[in-house]
Amino acid sequence: MRLILLGPPGAGKGTQAKILVEKYRIAHLSTGDILRAAISQGTELGKAAKQVMDRGELVSDEIMNGIVSERIEAEDCRNGFILDGFPRTIPQAEALDRILAEKGIGLDAVIEIQADEDTLVERVLNRAKQSNGERADDTGEVIRKRLQVYRDQTEPLAKFYREKGLVQSIDGLASIDEVAASIAEALDK
Ligand code: AMP
Repeated sequence: MRLILLGPPGAGKGTQAKILVEKYRIAHLSTGDILRAAISQGTELGKAAKQVMDRGELVSDEIMNGIVSERIEAEDCRNGFILDGFPRTIPQAEALDRILAEKGIGLDAVIEIQADEDTLVERVLNRAKQSNGERADDTGEVIRKRLQVYRDQTEPLAKFYREKGLVQSIDGLASIDEVAASIAEALDK
């Protein structure tokens, strides 16, 4: 099973990815987690990414495409994977197409988790309270910026993948269990 979870910050992509990983025994590729790990390890990648992330902007396509193409090669992705937070731009989606074509594999589905912006802001601010400020980008100002970046650069991916017949849209405002059930139903189709 090879999936993309598409949705704005706070939509619940990470939470749903964890449930899907258990169910299908596939790898969870969260590019945000990969970048945060690089920051906490103080690598060159982490240093380059930190300021961009703290502003709520996107790390360059070139860097992100490199990370994902290498990560997909890993043993744990053999059985499949969930991409959480990638692709985020049309050039990233085009690069992913090339990466998968080179490997002779395809995507099974793109799950788009939808939610209104006020709810998303509220959820992200709650996440910030519970996590002791672990994420410098979970502040009122930066979350608005991240939502704007999502609207401008990432939302067009829904159309990109809809034209390929891959998109299943899910209401992300329901409870975690209900959203998980809707995703399971969409994937069973
Ligand atoms: P996330 O944990 O997915 O919300 O990602 C946190 C931040 O990491 C984003 O706001 C971006 O700055 C950066 N990031 C994560 N994934 C990508 C990506 N695919 N392309 C560009 N930047 C990314």
